[in-house]
Amino acid sequence: MLNLAQFIIQVESFNSNINIPLIRKAYEFSDRHHAGQKRESGEPYVTHCLEVALILAEQHLDSSTIAAGLIHDVVEDTQVTIEMIKKEFGEEISLLVDGVTKLGLLKFKSREEEQVEYFRKMLLSMARDIRVILIKLADRLHNMRTLQFVKKEKRIRVSRETRDVYAPLAHRFGVATVKAEMENLCFKYLQSEKYYELAEKIEMTRQEREDYIKKVSRPIKKELVKEGLKVSISGRAKDLNSIYRKMRLRNLPLEQIYDLQAIRILSKSKGACYQILGVIHSLWKPVPDRFHDYIANPKSNGYQSLHTTVFGPGGKMLEIQIRTDVMHYIAEYGIAAHWLYKEGRQQMDKADRQMSWLREVLEWQKDLTNPAEFLEYLKIDLLQDDVYVYTPNGDLVHLPANSTALDFAFAIHSDVGLKTMGTKVNDKMVPLGTKLKSGDAVTILTSPNQKPSHDWLRIVQTTKARAKIKRWLNQQGFEQSVSLGTEILGRELKAVRLNMPSASTMLDIAQGMGFVSQEALLAAVGNGTVSGKHVMTRINPEELPEAKQSLVKKFIDTARGGKGIKIQGIGNMMFRFAGCCQPIPGEQIIGFITRGRGITIHRFDCANAMELSQQPERVIEVEWDVAKDQSFIVKLEILLEDRKKMLSDITQSISDVDANVRGAEISGKGVPVVGVFVVEVKNLSHLNKVIQKVKKVKGVISIDRAKGVDIDPFTGVSQKADER
Ligand code: MN
Repeated sequence: MLNLAQFIIQVESFNSNINIPLIRKAYEFSDRHHAGQKRESGEPYVTHCLEVALILAEQHLDSSTIAAGLIHDVVEDTQVTIEMIKKEFGEEISLLVDGVTKLGLLKFKSREEEQVEYFRKMLLSMARDIRVILIKLADRLHNMRTLQFVKKEKRIRVSRETRDVYAPLAHRFGVATVKAEMENLCFKYLQSEKYYELAEKIEMTRQEREDYIKKVSRPIKKELVKEGLKVSISGRAKDLNSIYRKMRLRNLPLEQIYDLQAIRILSKSKGACYQILGVIHSLWKPVPDRFHDYIANPKSNGYQSLHTTVFGPGGKMLEIQIRTDVMHYIAEYGIAAHWLYKEGRQQMDKADRQMSWLREVLEWQKDLTNPAEFLEYLKIDLLQDDVYVYTPNGDLVHLPANSTALDFAFAIHSDVGLKTMGTKVNDKMVPLGTKLKSGDAVTILTSPNQKPSHDWLRIVQTTKARAKIKRWLNQQGFEQSVSLGTEILGRELKAVRLNMPSASTMLDIAQGMGFVSQEALLAAVGNGTVSGKHVMTRINPEELPEAKQSLVKKFIDTARGGKGIKIQGIGNMMFRFAGCCQPIPGEQIIGFITRGRGITIHRFDCANAMELSQQPERVIEVEWDVAKDQSFIVKLEILLEDRKKMLSDITQSISDVDANVRGAEISGKGVPVVGVFVVEVKNLSHLNKVIQKVKKVKGVISIDRAKGVDIDPFTGVSQKADER
């Protein structure tokens, strides 16, 4: 059982700059608050905290992270609050503990939607400070090491979660040591029989393998010393899980998994790595296609190394890895290197690459709404192996395995991807869906007229390409809906002679109806979720600029006054003329009783009147009662050519037949122009005279009564709705 003194000796061996007083304080805090609590193993709870902190120290992490590791469980399992930790240890450590506590509260569920929520929250908490996940991984690793003490059911559940969530995350952040140990433990708990069978076989041949490693190391060392190269050589025990995976993958028995024998050579410089490679290849013949230069082409999680396999002594295949000490550290601890090399900066870009992966995932998860899809692609991204392909300029591009030529286009730039016309691989035209192999040289042909289609979603493998295509398709659909919605609403407005309200008015209306923007409302009209008429009821003409509503309304109100209609012998009844048909004396009319608004007068042949007649109890007989000097207002819609003096010529022609023009508006650009004239006439025959006269004006294409609308242009209220 680990105690504090041993712990401190170990921590200092990894990092001599560690803040020992802080570590002691954190330990004592943890010990005091976990006092009396026991692990399932029977040990005091604080041993778990020490072990977790040790795992973090092995990764050469900083004092704050190690201290946070020591107190990572106090908030969850004791009375201690985050505020208390902040007071005792400051902001940085309290944020780390808070992050780990919140991760602990996330429960991995089997339902897909819940899993997605779980991953989202986890990614978000990691984005704030990646050390939170490193502490969580250390916590999980120690729990896995002590899983034999918990009940079988829980053991299986925790192992599965580790296999599905934590080991892939450790891989993605390059923490290879943690990942490998987690996977081995999962193998042990989830497939115990196979695990022990394999472990026994490997143990039986261990001595043999160790002897072999010694045998091959000697000549290598001798040759390298001749070249003046300082190196350290170690035999590398492959972990059981990866051996088992290889056996299954290649369907081979253990005896034929040749790279069981593997050695690793660590050197001081990158140049030395290539020198060493040269020496090795002159000693033993390399196996074709088994050489990888991950120094020039690092893996996406930052891993760098030279890999080669040679026919070693006795014709046995031997796998050799060559890298520098720094590369080795990154290979083992991944993103933790960010803290070790904080000062040096030379490895910052590796950590940044991993952080940019995280940022990218957070970005594209917004575009993926289907939980199953999110999970599937997250898993691909977590577990991906890379293929390395080249641009025409010889630049290297990493892609996940199974990526297609179209994925490559999106990896170059999303604008390239969206305009992809065709693709060439190694100078041959190939379909967009062609799967790429490492070493392929890929050329993308683009066209400004090309557009993505739904088929593309089946072609691409990468999350990035998929998210971009989806976003584009959604955006496209949205824009079409907006323009259709604008057209529909514009038509409704035109029918009542209104222009589209100002942007700020539209925003108010949109928000009043629960939409975030004017575009969102228009899109809803365009795709039929909201009717144009419904929006019209919200458009209040009072809020429109003065000029738009005044002309007609003012004249109508004054000219018609309260006179002009006799209603079944009842006097002084409130009435108004319907905006939709604007009856004038001489025309057959009908009245409808409207609650709160008296009687509305329609032309007998008005479409609305016919509909209202379905409710005979509301119909009331009315007739004209017009004094000789009474005049009426009509609106005339005139289509005309755009020419000089047109307005005055029409006004003149109307005056010629003794009618008054009370207002005129000309709207619209291009030909023909729409003119709306408000004219005061005595009766129907007088109106007909006006129309005949205007028709003769040069450039007038047509003239008609403004008609056929079911919305009152003066209030903006739907009459059908209102009059029921
Ligand atoms: Mn814990």
